[in-house]
Amino acid sequence: SAPIPNPAGATPALAQWFAAKQAHPDALLFFRMGDFFELFFGDATTAGEALGLAVSHRGEHQGQPVPMAGVPVHAMEAYLARLIRRGFRVAICEQMETPEAAKARKAPAVRREVVRIVTPATVTEEALLEGARPSWLLALAPEGAERVGAAWLDVSTGHVCTESVAAAELGALLARLDPAEVVAPGSLAAGDALTPLGGLVREAAPPRDGARLAAEAWGVASLSAFGSFTEGEANALAMALDYVRGASGGTLPRLAPPEARGGEGTLRMDAATRRSLEILKAERGGKDCLLGAVDRTLTAAGARELAARLASPLAEAAPIAARHDAVAFLLAAGSVRAALRDSLKGAPDMARALGRLSVERFFPRDLASLRDGLARAEAMQAALRDAAGVPPIPPLLVAAGQALVPGNSPRAELDRALAGELPARLEDGGVVGPGYDGELDALRRLRDDARGAILALQMDLAQAWGVASLKIRHHQQLGFLAEVPAAAGEILLRQKPAPGPMAPVHRQSMASAHRFTCGALTDLDRRLSQARDEASRREALVIRHLRKLCLDAAPAIAAAARAVAEIDVHAASAELAASGGWCRPDMPDRPDFCIAQGRHPVVEAALRRNRGPAFVPNDADLSPGRRLCLLTGPNMAGKSTYLRQNALMVVLAQAGLYVPAESARIGLVDRLFSRVGTADDIAGGRSTFMVEMSETAAVLNQAGPRSFVVLDEVGRGTATWDGLAIAWAVLEALHDRLRSRTLFATHFHELTALAGKLPELAPAAMKVREHRGQVVFQHLVGPGASERSWGLHVARLAGVPRDVVGRAEAVLASLEERARGLDPLSGELPLFAAAPARNHAPGPSPARPEPDPDPLREALEALDPDAMAPREALEALYRLKSML
Ligand code: ADP
Repeated sequence: SAPIPNPAGATPALAQWFAAKQAHPDALLFFRMGDFFELFFGDATTAGEALGLAVSHRGEHQGQPVPMAGVPVHAMEAYLARLIRRGFRVAICEQMETPEAAKARKAPAVRREVVRIVTPATVTEEALLEGARPSWLLALAPEGAERVGAAWLDVSTGHVCTESVAAAELGALLARLDPAEVVAPGSLAAGDALTPLGGLVREAAPPRDGARLAAEAWGVASLSAFGSFTEGEANALAMALDYVRGASGGTLPRLAPPEARGGEGTLRMDAATRRSLEILKAERGGKDCLLGAVDRTLTAAGARELAARLASPLAEAAPIAARHDAVAFLLAAGSVRAALRDSLKGAPDMARALGRLSVERFFPRDLASLRDGLARAEAMQAALRDAAGVPPIPPLLVAAGQALVPGNSPRAELDRALAGELPARLEDGGVVGPGYDGELDALRRLRDDARGAILALQMDLAQAWGVASLKIRHHQQLGFLAEVPAAAGEILLRQKPAPGPMAPVHRQSMASAHRFTCGALTDLDRRLSQARDEASRREALVIRHLRKLCLDAAPAIAAAARAVAEIDVHAASAELAASGGWCRPDMPDRPDFCIAQGRHPVVEAALRRNRGPAFVPNDADLSPGRRLCLLTGPNMAGKSTYLRQNALMVVLAQAGLYVPAESARIGLVDRLFSRVGTADDIAGGRSTFMVEMSETAAVLNQAGPRSFVVLDEVGRGTATWDGLAIAWAVLEALHDRLRSRTLFATHFHELTALAGKLPELAPAAMKVREHRGQVVFQHLVGPGASERSWGLHVARLAGVPRDVVGRAEAVLASLEERARGLDPLSGELPLFAAAPARNHAPGPSPARPEPDPDPLREALEALDPDAMAPREALEALYRLKSML
């Protein structure tokens, strides 16, 4: 940000500005001046640019004009929203007294204070939040050299979680949470994981006694009341609280007790995997993501819950099965689902309304949201009660059903209290309806009586003053005045009235009218404004009472809100499953993976939307004995779609949803790796190949027998022989050592020869056929290897002259011949040699007899006659003969 000018010689108001700005140098200062928030100096230019505001000048400071830009107070939210979205923080400097009060105490300027810092993760206003996304503030505190304590909270809903993660997994955590803001010490802020977040990271030092500070904030003797937290988690919690307090003028919103997440029960996915699978957002260019394709929720809170489940699928059988049970029940009980979804449609966001209520920045509609939301929840409970019987309601729905209605629900009270039509703002009055509070009703009657009395007085004055057209009007500064036309006014002015309560007293002359008051009118005016003031004071009291009722029930309301969101997700998943072609995955306690007629939900939806061809479903089988599938096929044949769709099956299944397939058997996965189409990290200044290798390294260092790996084109970033060698070694490591279920796509056809050497490797190919001289991609995965000379085939189809294609075939054959002679170790193409890498591989090697080092035998084993064209078969025969 621009340097702050020297404050010497500032006017009193500007001196206040300098003081506030020095206290908040990294925020734009919104400085209240009457009906505007003004920005000065560098802030004016920055905000002017960001918001497209005209920058003008106001007065001088040290002989220079002061740049200034302003936004009207009533339109502030819209401007704030735009600034927040661009990562700015805004300090709101308010006038703390009226100009009259300042004058009365002979102050040179009205008192101003920074009452709030608006930052991306501490806002609660509807206009500043995204309905379907949580708004996480993430705080990080180092925990020794190897681990980091993390705490994240959503101020708008009061949700708080912690987790202790390995320092190396920080990137994965960030990718999972996608926080709106991060608070971290400088050492972490400067690290690889946080640098890409740039302006969203705020530096702060972790406290020494976070556990005590956090316990104090929740009013408990020890944090252990809520579970077990590591020192880093507790410190991170305290940092997050401190940041929120700093932003909201010292107060904290209502926060639910923190949940310590072991992290063990969730499916691990690193940042690259999330990017590659486009779970919550599309990456460069694309506009569709998994969430978008499967989201049938009806409420914002439901959408947030679904997003959270997809971002963090489970890794334990029982809780996953419980979710599937809930979906299965609602899928079968169509009428219950319909009744629930009827109630969900248009149901308000109770969690966020409660959040606003707790920070006292709330609106009448927030009270209405709780009233209506709780009424919807009651209706949902009734729908579930009606469903009780055979089959029994699964436990998750029973629990949610019970949470739907708080024991101390303020719903009835709100129902009685709130007016039918609510004003936009509390200060507009009329929030509380008639018949709820006797005293308020009486004061309002008084107010209304005074109004009637004014009407009566108007008639009396018209008669007494002899001016039939006399009108009593209300004037902003002068109060009630009797207005008469100019001519009648002149007469009144000349008369010397008899003293008394109706005697006209002149107040104002205008071209066409004169304005008078009189004792009776002033009296009434005072009574009316008194009644009005008292009525609004009373109403404020009633509202405070209602707010307290809601906050007293806050934990139960928050639980009801969560139950609504969970039921929304389950019903939405059932709705999706009911659309056809989705099945409940069978999740055995074995590393199975067997999909019949699986589909890619995002590609399928896109094809349907664009009225493209129908999506071609594909099977997959990576069960023990064939854990590694080696997929070959030309570009555009559908390899990456197939790879991703199978990885997405794991995400969906373990998030508790049904999967897009005819049937699916998916043994629980502990870690999921996807390296498909993850391209260069140009910003990071690393070469594509370096990125590819470090991502491959991450897989090889972490995957295990319970993991699921999809890899696309390993080794594509380097020269053919390097690339082939690397791809081969990676395949072997996955097969022998890591033993993960793996889909491995490659254009190195040579690798298919490994099929004979690695018993659990099953080759598969994308089918391509020729139709009227055109290449047709069938998007169908079949067993075997794809045609080797596919490039030449395309060349022929494309009309490259016969003799040129023929020559190319000869060159290919001789290149292959030469290649066999090039291998420095054995004088053969590497795939026909024993694999030295495997013998030196660390870790236990499976007990398997070393393959017989007979090149001819191996070459023979590598052949798949079913997958060969006659011409290829003949060539292979020649090759074999030449090896004798
Ligand atoms: P590759 O990775 O082999 O280059 P992609 O997986 O990117 O190919 O697929 C290319 C295009 O083919 C996709 O954009 C999609 O439109 C289409 N496609 C892929 N798989 C299928 C399928 N199973 N059914 C229908 N169309 C598909």
